[in-house]
Amino acid sequence: MVDCIFCKIANGEIPSATLYEDEEFRVILDLGPASKGHALILPKTHAANIYELSDETAGKAMILAKHMASKMTDALGCEGFNIVQNNGEIAGQTVFHFHMHLIPRYKGDKVGLTWTPGKLTDEVKDEILAKIK
Ligand code: 5GP
Ligand code: ZN
Repeated sequence: MVDCIFCKIANGEIPSATLYEDEEFRVILDLGPASKGHALILPKTHAANIYELSDETAGKAMILAKHMASKMTDALGCEGFNIVQNNGEIAGQTVFHFHMHLIPRYKGDKVGLTWTPGKLTDEVKDEILAKIK
């Protein structure tokens, strides 16, 4: 897609710190890391978000995330790992080319991915089950 920065990075038009590359994906270090080693999985084909992503690419991206998590954990010695994927401005997406965040976690790091748990009421549960199940 014209003027998509992640299309350009994924396809090598803009240089990046690349941890892994194959025909369909590039994995790069995030320029504004949440923690040491924070990386991004970028498909080389443009999809703005998960809604536009093909099933095939979605499946391969998850398998790649699994492999990268193991490789990065071994290499970096992190103690845990978050995989985060934002869709839409409201959800924190700032670059509108699908990507998965690979975030190594260390004791005492300042990564904030938590929320205050609410309470699932019967009313809301029934409403959602009726709509989705
Ligand atoms: P989002 O908020 O869309 O889920 O994540 C976008 C991520 O891309 C952010 O973590 C941001 O730091 C990173 N980012 C934005 N522009 C660039 C760039 O040009 N190069 C790299 N390596 N990361 C970028
Ligand atoms: Zn793109």
